[in-house]
Amino acid sequence: MRVLSGIQSSGMVHLGNYFGALMNWVKLQNEGHDCFYFIANLHSMTQSYDPALLKKRTLELTATLIAIGIDPEKSTLFIQSDVSEHSELAWILSCLAPLGEMERMIQFKEKSAQSPESVNAALLLYPVLQSADILLYRPDLVPVGIDQAQHLELTRNLVRKFNKRFNTEYFKEPQTFHTETVKVVGLDGTAKMSKSRDNFIGLVEEPEIIKKKLRTAATDPARVRRDDPGNPDICNVFSLHKLISSAKDQAWSEKGCRTAEIGCLDCKGRLFENLMQLLDPIRERYKELMEKPGLLHEYLDLGAQKAKKEAQKTLEKVHELIGISR
Ligand code: SF4
Repeated sequence: MRVLSGIQSSGMVHLGNYFGALMNWVKLQNEGHDCFYFIANLHSMTQSYDPALLKKRTLELTATLIAIGIDPEKSTLFIQSDVSEHSELAWILSCLAPLGEMERMIQFKEKSAQSPESVNAALLLYPVLQSADILLYRPDLVPVGIDQAQHLELTRNLVRKFNKRFNTEYFKEPQTFHTETVKVVGLDGTAKMSKSRDNFIGLVEEPEIIKKKLRTAATDPARVRRDDPGNPDICNVFSLHKLISSAKDQAWSEKGCRTAEIGCLDCKGRLFENLMQLLDPIRERYKELMEKPGLLHEYLDLGAQKAKKEAQKTLEKVHELIGISR
C-alpha cells in the first residue's frame, strides 16, 4: 500500500507529534508499505517566518525523523519544495477550488482571526496545496489528524470536480486513516501538547530542560500537601506514564497517588527516568546526524529524486487531461 503524510518544519518535534502521528509513520514503514513522508516547508510559509530559521528547522526535522526510525532507504523522505510539482498541481487545483468553501475552512477562520494583520492568500489556499501534496502521489492511505478532516473533504471534492470537468476517472478519492487516537495533553494540563502553547516536551531536548519542565508540570490540584491523596485519572503526568511507563510503573504511580504513599515529585522522577529510556537514543542519534549535514542532504536528494519521479508521472497525465501538453 502507498502511504503519504507530511509534517511542517515549524519547530522542535514534541511528544504530542510523536505519539499522535510519527510513531505510526515508523510502524507503517516497518510493515513494508511504500511510504512517502515529506517536510511541508511550503506550508510553513503561510505565516510570518524567518528564512534562515526555516532552513535550519528543516534540516533539524530531517535529522529528528531519521533519529526516530524513518529510514530514507526504505521510505521516500523529502522536502516539499524540492519537488516543484507540488506548487504546480496546487495552481491547477486552485482553478477548480470553490472560493466559498475555502473561506469556510475552520483553520483558515481560526488563523485569520488570531492574527488578522497577517492573513494572506496562501493561508486561504493552504488546503489546496495539501490536496496537491496528496494527489501527486495517488496514495492508498493518508494518515491525518482529526483536525485535518475538513481539508481532506476538500481534497475529495476537488477529485470529483477534476474528474467531472475533464471527463476522466484519473484521480481517486483518498482514503484517510485518522491517527489522533493518541492525544497528548500538554504540561499545563489544560490543552493538547503544542509548540504554540509552550506546554511541550521536545523529543531532542536536553534532559536537564525536560527535568525542569516536569518539575513545574501541573498535577491533580487536590494534592496540596504530600499526604493528600490524588486522582491520577485527572493528572496529565499520569497520562504520560500511560504512554511511556511499564504496566508495573503505572500501577505503582496509580496506587501511590490514590493512597498518598508517593508524592508528585517521586511520580515525576519515575516518569523522567522512563522518558529518558525512550529519548536518550533518539537524542544521541539526532546529534550524530546533525554533525553530518552532508549525509542528511544526500538522504534528502535521494528522497527528492524518488518523489519527483512519481510527481512528474502524475503531472504529465494531468497536463494531457487539462489541455496544456504539447
Ligand atoms: S502522584 Fe503522580 S499521578 Fe498523582 S497527582 Fe501527583 S503527579 Fe499526578
